[in-house]
Amino acid sequence: MMAGEKAKENKTLTSVCAGCGKTLSTELLHGVVVGRARQRRVVAICQACRDKGWTPEASGTPPAA
Ligand SMILES: [Zn+2]
Repeated sequence: MMAGEKAKENKTLTSVCAGCGKTLSTELLHGVVVGRARQRRVVAICQACRDKGWTPEASGTPPAA
């Protein structure tokens, strides 16, 4: 892969994958609801991480006690 990709003029929104940290188009990211009740939030993960079975728990995020 070449690293010469410059910032393109496009209107695609990007977000950071919570699993691998890559910045990707939101179209390639899946919103995953994590936590419960007041801790509830949505994180974005990419298809690759999703395929790997990534979960917030697997990422090592300590559960809020
Ligand atoms: Zn990812």
